[in-house]
Amino acid sequence: MSIAVYPGSFDPITLGHLNIIERASHIFDKLIVCVGYNRSKSPMFTAGERVEMIRKVTGHLPNVEVEASPELLAEFARRKGACVIVKGLRAVSDFESEFAMSLINKKLSPELDTMFLMAEERFLYLSSSAVKELGAYHADLSDFLPREVIEEFKARIDARR
Ligand code: ADP
Repeated sequence: MSIAVYPGSFDPITLGHLNIIERASHIFDKLIVCVGYNRSKSPMFTAGERVEMIRKVTGHLPNVEVEASPELLAEFARRKGACVIVKGLRAVSDFESEFAMSLINKKLSPELDTMFLMAEERFLYLSSSAVKELGAYHADLSDFLPREVIEEFKARIDARR
C-alpha cells in the first residue's frame, strides 16, 4: 500500500491546500495530512482546531486521514509507514527552501522521497498568511477558503481584534 504524508501548518486550510490534498489522494492509496505544532510561532488556530477543520473539508475523500504531530516529520513518516512526503510548489521562491528540506529529510530517512505537485494557476498566489491579511479587511474569502471554514475563520479574526 502506498502511503504519503502531506505536512503543513494549515493555519487555516486554504483551497490551495485542499487542491493538493485532492490530487495526492488520487495518486496514493492513503494520504495522511500532518498538522505541524511548531511551524508557526503564534498560530491563529490550535493544532486540534486545524485538524478538525481539515477533517471537515476532506470528508469526501475516504483515503485521507488527518493528524497533528509534534514529531520530526521524517520520524512521523517512518512511524506511519509512509514512503513519500507530498509538498505543493507555488513560486520559484518556494523551491529553494523546499529543496533543502527534502534533502534533509532524505538524509534523515534515506527511504523517504519528497514529491512536489505544482500549484494550479488559480491558487499560485494563495497562502494562509495572505488570507489572514484579507480577512482583517473583511474581504470576500470564497475564492480562497473552503466554504465550510469561512465562518469559523471570520469569527476568529473578529475575536482577535
Ligand atoms: P502556507 O504557506 O499557506 O502557510 P503551509 O505551511 O501550511 O502553507 O503549507 C503546506 C504545504 O502546502 C506546503 O508544501 C506549501 O508549499 C503548500 N501550499 C500552500 N499553499 C498552496 C497553494 N496555494 N497551492 C499549492 N500548494 C500550496
